[in-house]
Amino acid sequence: MKILFVTSEVHPLIKTGGLADVSGALPAALQALGQDVRLLIPGYIPVLDKLKDKRTVAALSVFAGQPEVRLLSAMMPETGVPVYVLDAPQYYCRVAGPYQYELGGDWPDNAMRFGMLSRVAALLGSDASPVAWQADIVHCNDWQSGLAPAYLQLTPSTHAKSVMTIHNIAFQGNFDRDWLAPLDLPQSCFDMHGVEFHGYLSFLKAGLHYADRIVTVSPTYAHEIQSTEMGYGMQGLLTVRNGDVSGILNGIDEQEWDPATDKYLTLRYDSSNLAPKTAGKLALQQRLGLEVDEKAPLLGVVSRLTYQKGLDMLLECLPKLLDGGAQLAVLGSGESDLEQRYLQLAQRYPGRVSVTVRFDEGLSHQVMAGVDIFLMPSRFEPCGLNQMYGMRYGTPPVVRRTGGLADSVTDAKAPDGTGFVFDEADPAALYRSVVRAIECYRDGKKFRSIQLNGMRRDVGWRGSAQRYVDLYRTMA
Ligand code: ADP
Repeated sequence: MKILFVTSEVHPLIKTGGLADVSGALPAALQALGQDVRLLIPGYIPVLDKLKDKRTVAALSVFAGQPEVRLLSAMMPETGVPVYVLDAPQYYCRVAGPYQYELGGDWPDNAMRFGMLSRVAALLGSDASPVAWQADIVHCNDWQSGLAPAYLQLTPSTHAKSVMTIHNIAFQGNFDRDWLAPLDLPQSCFDMHGVEFHGYLSFLKAGLHYADRIVTVSPTYAHEIQSTEMGYGMQGLLTVRNGDVSGILNGIDEQEWDPATDKYLTLRYDSSNLAPKTAGKLALQQRLGLEVDEKAPLLGVVSRLTYQKGLDMLLECLPKLLDGGAQLAVLGSGESDLEQRYLQLAQRYPGRVSVTVRFDEGLSHQVMAGVDIFLMPSRFEPCGLNQMYGMRYGTPPVVRRTGGLADSVTDAKAPDGTGFVFDEADPAALYRSVVRAIECYRDGKKFRSIQLNGMRRDVGWRGSAQRYVDLYRTMA
């Protein structure tokens, strides 16, 4: 099958979170299963810089009154998956993030930037495809490509089917209805049974309404988003479309995230010898200005610093944990209030808490390998990848039983336990489970078996990629 995988970020070209990791790994896994899969991504500056041997394959006029844009073709580094780049410098060649400018506000023309991406995706699945390739399946990811299913449905000359994967339903791409005309959407689709969502044009709603199938990134999250508490207003539509909704757990890129070969580690290890992991802990403590102490349980966080991730709950129980002898290494950025509170904690606990506020791919691998226990107390978590990286790196995670965390981590009480799971989204429950993890760490033997269970667990893409192929087949 010919599959167009449409995404607004992809590792190793541009990344703000887990969507980039999935977009890097899933298409490669689909290709390994014999599918003709191609990516479509916006031509941000790092994308154009990092992709070699680009060829212009089409020039397009996407919307009336907008300048002509180009479609480039190249190969992804490392995996060799073909990629189409939408080269529209006036929209994508901007310093700062893919969605936001430096002060953290959304780019004011995001509707046009991602409406254009969606329109080109639909074109590549239509008889009017501007290249000598026409997708059978247009696989959209999150709101940034949410209008593609709408364009596909509204264009008569198309045979492609669409899949909408929700990586996080909290991000919806809701815009003023005045964008309808510039985006060439008929007023008639501004309706409850269309793109309208509480008076706004919603890209995600469009995707959920028009796509042939809806997938989300874990079975538990597929269930959760059909509830009022966790559906962010989309639960009604998802419940009506229940028969078209499925949950397919993300995998991880096992080449990129392997402690035995990790290019960011100097002390590599595998399940047959964890000694270099301990040496890596000491090196990390030194590098981060923590007291070098093999015995101190070192807790780690690598995360967007947001309410979703439950890191405010963690702040409440940290003083007790630190006073009890634990250390903490945080790598993350996000809400400025949380950033400030973590930085203040580091000042209060010199040598016991290290906080690095930036995005740093290499350090994220070193933290994952060097800490003893990984913390992920998310309020909600569609899938989450870090808990799987933790398991693979012999760093058992403490997670809340929600979304993909519930589907991927087995509590230490079970013989095949891989981490520490708690239920309630409150600091006391989190505290108890971190204490449980620390006690287990100090006990040694049981902790080692949890580490090994995690390292041996299959968290790769193969099974899930096959589930996507099975889904495409039912549609094609
Ligand atoms: P989400 O997509 O909600 O942010 P995930 O756990 O699915 O959460 O994926 C987050 C990805 O982003 C992981 O690969 C994680 O290591 C990475 N990440 C998050 N924050 C940082 C950071 N400050 N520096 C480097 N990598 C980070």
